[in-house]
Amino acid sequence: MFNGSTIEISTDALRRNLEFIRGALGERPLLCNVVKGNAYGHGIGTFVPLAQQLGMDRFAVYSASEAYDLLQVVEGRPTVYIMGDVDDEALEWAVEQGIEFNVFERQRLVQAVQLARAQRRAARVHLEIETGMHRTGFPPEDLAGLLKWTATCTDALQLMGICTHLAGAESMANAFRVQEQKERYRDALRLADASGQDTGLRHVACSAGVLNEPDTLYDMARVGILQYGFWPNRETEVRFRKQHNIPSDPLHRVIRWRSRIMSLTTAQQGNFVGYGTAFFAQEDLRLAVVPVGYAYGYARSLSNSGQVLVRGQLAPVRGIVNMNCITIDVTGIEGVEKGDEVVLIGTQGDRSISVSSFGERSEQLNYELLTRLPHDIPRVVVETHHP
Ligand SMILES: *Cc1c(COP(=O)(O)O)cnc(C)c1O
Repeated sequence: MFNGSTIEISTDALRRNLEFIRGALGERPLLCNVVKGNAYGHGIGTFVPLAQQLGMDRFAVYSASEAYDLLQVVEGRPTVYIMGDVDDEALEWAVEQGIEFNVFERQRLVQAVQLARAQRRAARVHLEIETGMHRTGFPPEDLAGLLKWTATCTDALQLMGICTHLAGAESMANAFRVQEQKERYRDALRLADASGQDTGLRHVACSAGVLNEPDTLYDMARVGILQYGFWPNRETEVRFRKQHNIPSDPLHRVIRWRSRIMSLTTAQQGNFVGYGTAFFAQEDLRLAVVPVGYAYGYARSLSNSGQVLVRGQLAPVRGIVNMNCITIDVTGIEGVEKGDEVVLIGTQGDRSISVSSFGERSEQLNYELLTRLPHDIPRVVVETHHP
C-alpha cells in the first residue's frame, strides 16, 4: 500500500534525547517513557521496540486500548502503566496482565481489589492525588482513610505509586499554582508516610517538570515530548538552555516526515491557485503537487501558511490544503523534478522544518500535530537523519 508519505524514526536522535533526559534526571529517578497517542504520532509499533533496544523498560499510556496495542509490540515484559481510567470492561484484563494503572476513585479501587481477589492476584495500583489540576485524583485529605482500608487488602492490592500531574509546569506564569500543587503533594506524602505502608514510587514530573521543577523528580519521571526531541514549549527551551548555558539545541527530532512531488505545473500571473480564491498569483509561478492532505495528517490550518523543503530549500504551501494533496511553490528552486523528495517535518540538506514552524499559534501545537499523524503512514527506522 502506498500512502503518499513515509515517517522515518531516527535511532541516533532517540539515543541522544534519552541521554539528555538521563542527564537532566540525575542518577536516581527512574524514567517512564510516555507513549500515549501512538507514541506522539511516531508509531507505537516502531517507537517502543526501538526504545527497548536502547534500554527502556517502563512505558506509560493513557487508556487500556493503548495498553493493549503496546502489549502487541513489546519484547518481553516491560512495565506497562495506564495513567488514565481503566474502565469496567478493561479492569479484569488489566489486573490479569499485571498492568499498572492509576486509580483516582474509591469505587474503582474497591472494584480492582475484588477482581484481583477473584483471580488470586494483586492489582498493581498507583494512587493519583488531586493537587490542583482539577482533573482526576483523590484529595490529599482522603488519603488517611484510604490507606487504612488498603492496609486490609494486601492480598489483592499492591501499591505501586503515589502520583500527581502538574497543571502547566512549562510556564512561569503558572508558578504560584504549581507551588501550591507541590505543597499539596507533600501533604499527601506525609499522610502516606504516617500510614506506615509502602506506597511505592513517588512521581510527579512530566517533561516540563523535569526541566523546570527539579524538586518534583522524587523516584520517577513520566517523560513524553522530550524523548521525541521536542520541547514542551519555547519558554522551557529558552529558560533551560540559558540556565544551563547550553549553546545549541541538545534535543534531536526523532521524526522525519517525507513525501515526493507527484506532478509539476505552472500558474501565470493574475490567476488563482487551487480551490476558490485563496491564493492569487502575483507573478508567474512554478508549482508542485504533493500527495499529503488533511486526510493524511497535514493540517488544513496550514493553508497558505505551511512550508516544506524541496532540494534543501523552503517551498511555501499555496492555497488551501486539500483532503489528499497540497500545492507548493517551487518558483526559483533550481532543477525541481517530478519524484523529488519533499520534507514535511524534519531536515533536508542544511534546513529543517520543525513541527512548530507549522505555526506558532498554540503552545500545544507540537503535541497536537504529532498525535494527529495517521496510523497508516508507514514508519521506518533509520540510524540517523543526517547520513
Ligand atoms: C502526557 C502525560 C505525561 C507526559 O507529558 P510530556 O509533557 O509529554 O512529558 C506525564 N504525565 C501524565 C499524567 C500525562 O498525561
